[in-house]
Amino acid sequence: MAAPIDISVVVPFYNEQQVAREFHRRLSAVMEKLDGAITWEAVYVDDGSVDGTLEVLKEAQRTDDRVIVVELSRNWGHQPAVMAGLCTSRGRAVVLMDGDLQDPPEVIPDLLAAWREGGQVIIGRRRSRAERGVRRWMFGAFYAVLGFLTDYPIPLNAGIFGLLDRRVVDAIARMTETNRYLPGLRSYAGFAQRVVSYDRAERAGGEPKQTFGRLLKYGLDAIFSFSYKPLRLATLLGVLVAALAVVYGVALVVFRLLDTGMFGIPVVDGYTSTIVSVLILGALQLITIGILGEYLGRVYDEVKRRPLFLISEIHASDPTLRDAVMARAQAGTRGASQGSSS
Ligand code: UDP
Ligand code: MG
Repeated sequence: MAAPIDISVVVPFYNEQQVAREFHRRLSAVMEKLDGAITWEAVYVDDGSVDGTLEVLKEAQRTDDRVIVVELSRNWGHQPAVMAGLCTSRGRAVVLMDGDLQDPPEVIPDLLAAWREGGQVIIGRRRSRAERGVRRWMFGAFYAVLGFLTDYPIPLNAGIFGLLDRRVVDAIARMTETNRYLPGLRSYAGFAQRVVSYDRAERAGGEPKQTFGRLLKYGLDAIFSFSYKPLRLATLLGVLVAALAVVYGVALVVFRLLDTGMFGIPVVDGYTSTIVSVLILGALQLITIGILGEYLGRVYDEVKRRPLFLISEIHASDPTLRDAVMARAQAGTRGASQGSSS
């Protein structure tokens, strides 16, 4: 039985060949400066990279036995990759961060300090954002909408960067939903929450892997899995339109009976009003059906209960550790191992 691990650092990588080696270097430098009694491991998840990322990670694992590499069966996406890492990790506390060095490893000591002071969920909040132009504007708009709609107080301007106590990790691993928005689940879990502010850096290299489409899905997951307000909004809109329609209808009938025409416009010529009301009602119906669809699609995903991720191989120095990790990852959130390693 190996010594218990204090800190796990879980990092997803997808085609990050340009930055993976530098990431490991900077992380190790930070971790080695901590109190020497602290034991730590790095759980690097290769999310089906098609460049040399896996090789770089395996190289790090060969030269540093604190590294575990989780090789997923294909590209599953950011959130599933993070879940695979969470299910693999063993530390009493788990640090989550991106592998492109946008979340600076140098902030980890601050996270640990907040944890030692009793925090169980430490959230890294971006004091500044490295994104520019349209992307920056989109993030701003997203957080404004999320802040208004969500039923849970999800800290704004926070991604996955932060630290989770083991109890929180276990709680989140037991949550079975497929469409995951980790910052939301983290808030939902409760526990003692603390916020640590940091300056978000530029990517150290390569292109963003979260394409616009993926970010949009991620954003919609955030809104629709943590809020019923869009549904309520649809109902409210319906009530409002119905009320207006009644007022307008009554007015039409009255003007018709008085035979004065409405504000001088002959009522029989009702072409404009017909077209306008048909268009408005049609649009409202499409919007509300769309909102229903967003929820329905997610319900469909949830009832299928497919695994969140599949692991094809775990690379770790100690083979018994590998088997144990494999078993635990399998027992975790519907993740399963495949392939030769078992
Ligand atoms: N990532 C991943 N799988 C994916 C997309 C991204 O594991 O399908 C990783 C990526 O390598 C990076 C982190 O998730 O370490 C964040 O991705 P990215 O920098 O593209 O997102 P952004 O910073 O734009 O939110
Ligand atoms: Mg990034």
